[in-house]
Amino acid sequence: MISSNIREGNIRKLLSDDSKKNIRPISLTVELTYRCNFRCIHCYIPDKDRQEDGEITFDEIKDILDQAENLGVIYVCFTGGEIFLRKDIFDIIRYARNKGFYIRLKTNGSLITKKIAAKIAKSMVNAIDISLYAFDEKGYKKITGKKGVLNNVLGAVLNLKKQKIPVRIAYIFLKENMGYSKKIVDFAKRNKIEFSYNFQISNKNDGCSDTLDHACTDSENVLNTLDYFNKKRKDSETSKKKGNKTNKEYGGRCDVGYSGIRVSPYGLVYPCVILQTPAGNIRHDRLSNIYKNSHTFNLVRSIKTFKDLENCKKCDFEEYCRPCLGERLNCNPTIKEYAEINKKIMLR
Ligand code: SF4
Ligand code: SF4
Repeated sequence: MISSNIREGNIRKLLSDDSKKNIRPISLTVELTYRCNFRCIHCYIPDKDRQEDGEITFDEIKDILDQAENLGVIYVCFTGGEIFLRKDIFDIIRYARNKGFYIRLKTNGSLITKKIAAKIAKSMVNAIDISLYAFDEKGYKKITGKKGVLNNVLGAVLNLKKQKIPVRIAYIFLKENMGYSKKIVDFAKRNKIEFSYNFQISNKNDGCSDTLDHACTDSENVLNTLDYFNKKRKDSETSKKKGNKTNKEYGGRCDVGYSGIRVSPYGLVYPCVILQTPAGNIRHDRLSNIYKNSHTFNLVRSIKTFKDLENCKKCDFEEYCRPCLGERLNCNPTIKEYAEINKKIMLR
């Protein structure tokens, strides 16, 4: 029996260990659409992929959720693109809710009016992440290509908070938004809203690396901002504990191939959000067969340690590079720069 004072992090660790031992997924990410009302400079979705045609239908999503339930999945994340562009979004949430999944939504927040916030509250999602890219209209336009949306996004965050929905601000470090980071932290603190950050961005889904031009790899700037973040934040979601451990201390690789499954808006199935090699398609195969028997999942599971990867074996930054197999398999110069920043963070 699990003691009641075990924290969520510990439970996740127990579940993750169990998923490795019994080859059983615990989380499902469904990308409901690649359409979006923004065109962010760092977005991993190529423009040609933002098609409504061919998107998974409500019936297909219901079937995916039924299959996930049978596989033992507990956590479901709905992400995009922008999920509130789907007209059936509340039907989808309601269906997942009735199955008893823990539900997290990821959104850019710009379409969440007061009325939508009330509807979200009624649908009883467990958590919602809203990306906040800048703190003035000029900055927002530069990053998202969209004018006049900042007030909508801030309004969404505050309306959700008012509705008592666990809302979290997600901030991504970019060259173009470093100047806003402290203001965003101050906004979160002032309104008692959780926030998280990420300073690693990746190639587009089609391999194009233009996104990396926007990566913030100025370590001094990142370190200063992180200091400000950590001073201001009581509980660190991006995990000071884990982030400050070297890979040796952390003890291994991420649990890709075991704990998670991602389904794209066109039914393609992947082991995680970073790896771009499809393992199958829910339109032609059962989720359980793809998860248990596909070449992609089995190949990923066969890599037991980063010592199995030739490039990492010889790399000076191995100990400090993120324990993310998807990134390790597709190393690029920016990942090396990120590893250097990680090293500085860990050795401070
Ligand atoms: S809001 Fe998200 S999905 Fe939309 S363009 Fe920006 S990064 Fe991409
Ligand atoms: S920087 Fe690249 S080669 Fe070095 S450990 Fe990280 S992924 Fe491997």
